[in-house]
Amino acid sequence: MAEVLCSFCGRSKKDVDLMISGIHAHICDKCVTQASQILQEEKRNRHDSSTPNFKLIKPREIKKFLDEYVIGQDEAKKVMSVAVYNHYKRLMQRKTDSDIIIEKSNIIMVGDTGTGKTYLARTLARILQVPFCIADATVLTEAGYVGEDVESILTRLLQAADYNVEAAERGIVYIDEIDKIARKSDNPSITRDVSGEGVQQALLKLLEGTAVNVPPQGGRKHPDQKMITVNTENILFICGGAFEGIQRFIANRLNTRPLGFTSGSGLHPADVDKDQLIQFVSAQDLRSFGLIPELIGRLPVITYLHPLDKAALRKILTEPKNALVKQYKKLFEMEGIQLEFKEGALDFIVEKALEFKLGARGLRSICEAIINDAMFELPSDKTTDKLIITRAYAEDKFSRSQYSKLKVA
Ligand code: ADP
Repeated sequence: MAEVLCSFCGRSKKDVDLMISGIHAHICDKCVTQASQILQEEKRNRHDSSTPNFKLIKPREIKKFLDEYVIGQDEAKKVMSVAVYNHYKRLMQRKTDSDIIIEKSNIIMVGDTGTGKTYLARTLARILQVPFCIADATVLTEAGYVGEDVESILTRLLQAADYNVEAAERGIVYIDEIDKIARKSDNPSITRDVSGEGVQQALLKLLEGTAVNVPPQGGRKHPDQKMITVNTENILFICGGAFEGIQRFIANRLNTRPLGFTSGSGLHPADVDKDQLIQFVSAQDLRSFGLIPELIGRLPVITYLHPLDKAALRKILTEPKNALVKQYKKLFEMEGIQLEFKEGALDFIVEKALEFKLGARGLRSICEAIINDAMFELPSDKTTDKLIITRAYAEDKFSRSQYSKLKVA
């Protein structure tokens, strides 16, 4: 029998690990590997010269989608919708028409806890066509100290992108609790501020757009893992924080410039109540709070979320597409039980949420406290097919719950 040779390189079968035979030809494992590399290279080059193709969702459409889930916060929704739209446009910009370079506009959101910052970002992620992840600034520390390095943020993005580096490089990252890494100016200690300013410095690098070496599994537990290089130039960063007490800086700034303030808004600081001040938040206030100017410079779009008042909380309970009340109704419906909340009960829940100052976040735990007994008993009780939650029922269940023992701050 004739000797089998690779039709590509001419090697003999005995000189290679594996020979694959086709109808009229053979190929050895070495040639397969080489051909695969050529193919990948070619694909990459072709990809580079084209631009990603998105179905552009217009800002109005993005906002309309957000409106279905998030109550109020119009200003923040508009700002986010525009930022995301521009982010897409920026990604679609052909590399050749480089005379005007659209810069990325990272966003910073300021608003009390439980006003919907994370929720807004999460909801946004549902219509995005790019990878998205949420990271928490509180766990970050400067490299070399206990905690996570800032690069771990990109690990999450890589995971969200199924380790497709190109996709991750177009993604959006939400960094929560950015206010917790403010410089601790009132701390006279000479030790290093490893979880504050140090982290801000480290974040700078990420936000401005450089090639970052990312541990694919995150953390330092696998010191031997091979790093993946991710370029952050096209990643959009959205930061959020409560910035508790920032109103003090806003008021101070406005007070020291009464003229500019009065002519600009027609309002006098004394006329504005504390909750309203947040809409005037500016880069300068963030700086007074303890963010370093370089970091603020990398977050050019500043927006705010209103504290949620009674009316807003009431709407959140019942109106959004997946409102809490709708969710509970669904849960009971699955047991064949019709659930109804009376107006008085809803009022009670809202009053308690306001009292505990937890924003909309409190609504859920209060509802749980009220309804948990029923959720425990009714599935085994075949005689009930209707449950009506009145104010009296709500008050009674709530007063017996652990929750009611909490002290109001
Ligand atoms: P934070 O501002 O602290 O990030 P979250 O976004 O985590 O607050 O809000 C907590 C929960 O409260 C959300 O999961 C959501 O269910 C609800 N929520 C908060 N704000 C709103 C809102 N404006 N509209 C609808 N639900 C909201």
